[in-house]
Amino acid sequence: MTNAQLKKIRNILGKIPRTVILTHFNPDGDAIGSALAVFHYLSAMGCRCSVAVPDAYPDYLAWMPSVEKIIVARDHPGKAADAIMNAGLIMCVDFNQLKRLMGMEDYVRKSEAPKILVDHHESPEDFHDFLLSEPSACSSAELVYKFFVALYGKKYFNKKIVDCLYTGILTDSMGFRIGNANAQTHRIVSELIELGTQYHRIHNLVYDTNTLDRLRLIGYCLSEKLQVFPEISTALITLSQDELRRFNHRVGDTEGVVNYALSIKGIHLAVFIVERKTHVKLSFRSKNNFPVHTFAKEHFHGGGHFHAAGGETKRSIDETVTKLKNLLPQYEEMLNGK
Ligand code: 5GP
Ligand code: MN
Repeated sequence: MTNAQLKKIRNILGKIPRTVILTHFNPDGDAIGSALAVFHYLSAMGCRCSVAVPDAYPDYLAWMPSVEKIIVARDHPGKAADAIMNAGLIMCVDFNQLKRLMGMEDYVRKSEAPKILVDHHESPEDFHDFLLSEPSACSSAELVYKFFVALYGKKYFNKKIVDCLYTGILTDSMGFRIGNANAQTHRIVSELIELGTQYHRIHNLVYDTNTLDRLRLIGYCLSEKLQVFPEISTALITLSQDELRRFNHRVGDTEGVVNYALSIKGIHLAVFIVERKTHVKLSFRSKNNFPVHTFAKEHFHGGGHFHAAGGETKRSIDETVTKLKNLLPQYEEMLNGK
């Protein structure tokens, strides 16, 4: 972002605009962490803010500061629409295609308020007035931190903001395990710790609050549902609505299941396929050279990052597995890392 753009944003923020903060459907730790960090930052500046998300956030984020104020559009569509239409500033974080707002995008298109997008996915759609996009960053939270530091230095940061940012970075970097959890990431984390984030407390709140049902569901996935295709270095887990019900599934319970499949020695692609009420959702994770974002985009209306992406289909689970089994051998060389 140029100095001229930052100056324009300072001018906008100087008017203390009523602000709505938006993030993507199926919001994860980075989406909610980034959105709430912006909420607390702009609130500290004196803005009246609201956060609106398309659908529910997972239970493991229920401890986050002011999470209870988030407007879930699926439950309160009128409230979400009002928040957008009454806003003098729209802040979008952790997504870059309006369709990922699942219905709220029509209001964003209609609104004449300036729109700022802070995100780390490739190829942003052109709906913004100001853009901070860094696809090489491991989380949007990292970029939210850079954005505010560029605007006002360390002014306005408080403990709630740094806890939200740390949660975004921690979860999207898979606990600092992915390749782009780089020196910048660790430098920012070190700043956040100096600003007061209690990382041990956050690790506890995010990772050590499993329900027994969730652990049993993961156990079931690993013992009964994991399929391995060594000839294409791929592992796959599927779950139907019936299976989810059997384990009293709650939002967020299946997050991270795909990583167990990827953790098998010699596996370079892991796929998790879950039946949702209206469609089948796929999660892809890869190691080495397999670009799951382009694969998801080309075959499953999806997208994401090189090593972590998602998509969806109207096919059944069985048909989806068959489609994958037909497609993947074409990528054999890439998958096997030859
Ligand atoms: P997950 O598998 O955890 O749902 O998503 C992994 C990554 O892919 C995230 O960065 C997420 O934003 C992105 N992603 C997941 N599903 C979709 C989708 O349907 N479309 C697009 N464009 N990105 C997705
Ligand atoms: Mn993210």
